[in-house]
Amino acid sequence: MRCMTEPTRPSVSPEAAFGLATPYRDVTCGELRAGDAGREITIAGWVHRRRDYGGLIFIDLRDRYGLTQVVINEAEAPEATEAANRVRNEFVLQVVGTVARRLAGTENAKLATGEVEVQARKVTILSEAETPPFYINEPDAPVDESLRLRYRYLDIRRRPMVERLILRSELVKAVRDAHHRAGFVEVETPILLKSTPEGARDFIVPSRLQPGSVYALPQSPQQLKQLLMVAGMDRYFQIARCFRDEDLRGDRQPEFTQLDLEMSFVTEERVMDFVEAMIIEVSRAVVPDRPIQQLPFPRIDYNDAMERYGSDKPDLRFGMELADLAPGLAAIGAASPESATGFRVFDEALAAGGRVKAIAAPGMGESSRSQIEELVAFARRFGAKGLAHVSVQADGTGHSPIGKFLGEERVAAIVKATSAGPGDLILIVADANHELVADVLGRLRQELGLRLGLADENVLAYCWVMHFPMYQWEADLGRWHATHNPFSGVVPEDEVLLATKSGDPYKPSHEDPAGRARAMQYDIALNGWELGGGSVRIHKRELLETSFALQGYTLEQMHERFGGILEAFDYGAPPHGGIAMGIDRWAALFSHQTNIREVMAFPKTQSGGDLMLGSPSSPDAEQYSELGLKFVGVETANG
Ligand code: ASP
Repeated sequence: MRCMTEPTRPSVSPEAAFGLATPYRDVTCGELRAGDAGREITIAGWVHRRRDYGGLIFIDLRDRYGLTQVVINEAEAPEATEAANRVRNEFVLQVVGTVARRLAGTENAKLATGEVEVQARKVTILSEAETPPFYINEPDAPVDESLRLRYRYLDIRRRPMVERLILRSELVKAVRDAHHRAGFVEVETPILLKSTPEGARDFIVPSRLQPGSVYALPQSPQQLKQLLMVAGMDRYFQIARCFRDEDLRGDRQPEFTQLDLEMSFVTEERVMDFVEAMIIEVSRAVVPDRPIQQLPFPRIDYNDAMERYGSDKPDLRFGMELADLAPGLAAIGAASPESATGFRVFDEALAAGGRVKAIAAPGMGESSRSQIEELVAFARRFGAKGLAHVSVQADGTGHSPIGKFLGEERVAAIVKATSAGPGDLILIVADANHELVADVLGRLRQELGLRLGLADENVLAYCWVMHFPMYQWEADLGRWHATHNPFSGVVPEDEVLLATKSGDPYKPSHEDPAGRARAMQYDIALNGWELGGGSVRIHKRELLETSFALQGYTLEQMHERFGGILEAFDYGAPPHGGIAMGIDRWAALFSHQTNIREVMAFPKTQSGGDLMLGSPSSPDAEQYSELGLKFVGVETANG
C-alpha cells in the first residue's frame, strides 16, 4: 500500500510557482503597460535615479527586467515621502501603489514601461546602499576594468552586462535544445581528473587522502568523451568547464566553457553536417537579425586557407586574398645574370624555396610615410624582416620605392597579380619561411580588413578549415607534436605514412613520412576567430600507440599517461569523432565583443586573479600540513 500523509498545505500551481511574483512584489520593473492603469500593485527593485521636485519625488526603480517610474506625492503620501527623502541611488525599495497612465507628453518612448508610472502609497526601504564606485545608471560611461571586476556584482547591475549574460544563457539553452532533439545525452565528467593534454599546462590539486599525489583539472573532457563512445553512449554532449594554465590574452581565460560533443559511427562529414546544422539553428534562435554569410558553410582545406588568407581561421567577410607574386615575376625572366628579380630580398626568399606574397589594401595608396612605417613595424612584430609596398596610381600603374630595382614591368606584374586598382596599397612580404610569409600577411589582412571597415559587423561568416597536418616537428625535443589533439585520426589515404615507424622506444625523426600526414581534423571559424575544433579519432589501439610513439612517448610512458584509454580500445571501440566549441567566444562574437571577459560573469584578470574574492590566495596553515605542502622559494602568508 502507498504511504500517504495528510496534506498540510494547498498545492501551488506551476504558473504561480514559476511566475515572477513573490511575497515582495506582484510585478517586476519591466512589465507594466498602459493596460495596467488602475491596478494596485507592489513592486520592488533598486533606485536607479531619484529626482526631487519639492513635494513631488520621482524614482526610477530598476531590476533585471527593466525600469519603472515611481512618483511620490507629498500631499497624498506623507509617510512614503518621508522614506523617499532618505533614499539614495542603489537603495533597495518596495513600493505599494497604483498604476496610472503618465500625463500626455510625459511618456517615455524609450522605456517599455514608459506609458505608465506607479503612484506610491507606501515606500519601504529593504536595504540601504553606499555610493557605488561607478555610475550604474550610465551604462555607456567608461569605467576602468579592474574596478568593474573588483565590484562585478555592481557591474552586472548595468544593462550591457545584464544583456550579455542573458544572451549567453539563451545561447546555452539553444545549444542544449538542438542536442536533445538530435538524441544527444548530456553527461557530466569529473573536474578532479588526470592530466588531459590539450597543449597547455595543467592546474593541479593536491590530494589529502593520497599525500604526494595530485589531480589535474581537465584541459578538456577529451578522453572521457571517447570512453563514453566505447561505453556505447553513441551521442554525448556537455557544457564543460575546461582549465588551461597558459598566458592570458583577450580570447583566453584560465577557465572557460566549451560545448563538448562526441558521436559514434561517424565520418568527418557526418560530424560537420550535424555541427553546421546545430550552429545555424543556434544562431537563428539567439541572434535572428544577424545574417549568415554563406550556406552551406565553406569547407576550406588548411593549405588553401593558408595560401589564400594566411590564416587557419580566415575572416571571410572580406576578400583581400594573398597573391603569390612568384609566377608573375618568373614569367618576365631574370633581371640580370646575378639577380632573378632585381631586388635582393625577393631573390633570396625565392632561392631558398620561400615565398614572395602580397595583399592589396583598398584605398590606402595615399598612406603617409608614418602610416607605412606603422605597418612595417606591425609586420616586424610578427617576424617579417621587412614590408615592401607599391601604391597604385590613378592611371593604374604602380609606384614603389623598390621600383628602381624591380623595373616597371615587374611592378606592373605585381599590380596585376594582386588585382589592385587605383588608390590601393600593395603590401609585400618575402621570406625563406613560407609559413611566416602567410602568417604576417594573414595578420595584416585581418587588421586592415577591420580598420578599413571591410568586414560587415552584423554578418556571421562561419567556415570550416580541414585537413590540418597531423604533426609538427619539435626540433628541440626531437619529436613530433600533434598540431591539435593527440587522439586525432589520420586521413585514411595517409595512414600508410604512419606505418613506417617501428620498435620501442622509437626515436622520431624529422624525416618520418608521418610529417606529411593530414589529420581528420576540422576547425570552425567565425569572423576571424577560431570558434572550435574537432576530429575523427583514432579508435584502434595499435594506431594510437604508433601516433603516441611519433609524439615521443615510449610504450611505458604512454601506458602511464594514457593507459586507461588504450586499454578501453581493447574492448571494442566504435569509430567516433567530435568537436569542442568555445561558448565564451561564441557569446562574445554574438554580442559584438572582442574580449571574452565581457560575456563571463566572473572572469579573471590578465594575471589570473579574481579581484572580487581575492584568488589565488595562500593556503591556510592547516592545509599545508594536511596536504604535505611546502612552497620553496616563495614567501607566502601562512607557510
Ligand atoms: N578536446 C578538443 C579541444 O578541447 C576538442 C575535440 O577534439 O573534440 O580542443
